[in-house]
Amino acid sequence: MDTTTSAVHVVAIPSPGRGHINPMMNLCKLLASSDDSLLITFVVTEEWLGFIGSAPTPPNIRLRSIPNVIPSELVRGADLAGFVEAVYTKMEAPFERLLEELEPKVSCIVADTYLSWALTVGKRLNVAVASLWPMAPSMFSISYHFDLLKSNGHFPIDDLSGERGEERVNYIPGISSIRLADLPFVSAKKGEAALGRVLGAISLSTESQSLLFTSFHGIENHVIDSLRTKIRIPIYYVGPTIPYMTLQDMPQKAMEHPNPDYFDWLDSQPKSSVLYVSLGSFLSVSGPQMDEIANGLQASGVRFLWVARGDATRLQEGSNMGLVVPWCDQLRVLCHSSVGGFLTHCGWNSTMESVYAGVPMLTFPLLWDQITNAKLIVEDWKVGLRLKQEVGEKNVVRRQEIAQTVKRFMDLDGDESGELRRRAREMKEICEKAIKKGGSSETNLRAFFKEIVQGHK
Ligand code: UDP
Repeated sequence: MDTTTSAVHVVAIPSPGRGHINPMMNLCKLLASSDDSLLITFVVTEEWLGFIGSAPTPPNIRLRSIPNVIPSELVRGADLAGFVEAVYTKMEAPFERLLEELEPKVSCIVADTYLSWALTVGKRLNVAVASLWPMAPSMFSISYHFDLLKSNGHFPIDDLSGERGEERVNYIPGISSIRLADLPFVSAKKGEAALGRVLGAISLSTESQSLLFTSFHGIENHVIDSLRTKIRIPIYYVGPTIPYMTLQDMPQKAMEHPNPDYFDWLDSQPKSSVLYVSLGSFLSVSGPQMDEIANGLQASGVRFLWVARGDATRLQEGSNMGLVVPWCDQLRVLCHSSVGGFLTHCGWNSTMESVYAGVPMLTFPLLWDQITNAKLIVEDWKVGLRLKQEVGEKNVVRRQEIAQTVKRFMDLDGDESGELRRRAREMKEICEKAIKKGGSSETNLRAFFKEIVQGHK
């Protein structure tokens, strides 16, 4: 690790949460592997040190922490609005103190777009700030153009169930026709404080030195192209930021797992027969909804590997077709040849990982950007099917719906599922092209690296 005063030194700060830390760390690994002399200081709140510390990082990435400024019950997602507020108000001062102490001189800060205060810190300390948006560019564009929704009478909406939710919006730049029900925030009556924070951060991010997206050209090009006509700073799409992306032989490498039991189980299942089920790293669904999922999966007769955090033991009983685990190495699971589908909450990282692995998705969005991501998956990319919620019972998907749709989705002989698998393979190829040497994401990453180095001189 080069810690001499001449080293190019990047400080990376993700928002607390796995869905934000993972892509930031993956981006840093890619940058670190492009030049050994680059030094990266990766800053997280203390509660995340253990998790990151246990994963291997290149020698030119060092970890630093700032104190936990967020009460642990908020970290666990019990109070999303409180969590968002704490992230926006309590991390700035300790981050600035840390930055003042760091050696060598910091060349550039890469901050999660949510952490808009990093721009203020950068200005005070005269350090350039790049903004990383670890979600869909579509989500960025919708939020960036939120005033359009207000002026068209599409915010706030009291009830999105029924016909109102089916109404189509066609005026958001770069976004193809979208149902009101698939737009984030439009019914956010309770979450207006958090919404204000997010919209403010997105608008401020255009004052950064540059903007990075963890998406790739070829799937959201209309959005990225349209944003480029409005936002005058460089926009780089460097996704999907998969840690293995510099390795051309990813599938083999990914299979070199230390063989936890679930991989033994996957190894013994027929090709493409297993539905991988996970609703993300921190949100949870109600007990009754968990029961609907358990019963629906069981009744479908389909093999499944289910990440059911916290509830794993309760649900394990009685199943002979499935395995329930509290956590898994998701990317490797998705790349396993036995996995043929992903029942997902449509978090952006999960979505990109599934696209990367060429696995079709069954969408079960819970909130926020996930609802819009589900629309991209099903309508725009045509690599997924929706699980439908019962009208009037927000967020409850019934066991019959789960059983029937899972069966259709995983039917290896069906035309519909065959078409989904064909599209998923096509998307995988587009993705591989983007990240290989000379591809759009790889070229963008190099351009960003050059920008950092030039700023350092
Ligand atoms: N993840 C994992 N194992 C699990 C569940 C999740 O490794 O059992 C990882 C997953 O690969 C992804 C991240 O956690 O990189 C979740 O991010 P995402 O944006 O999909 O959802 P979030 O958890 O932020 O809602």
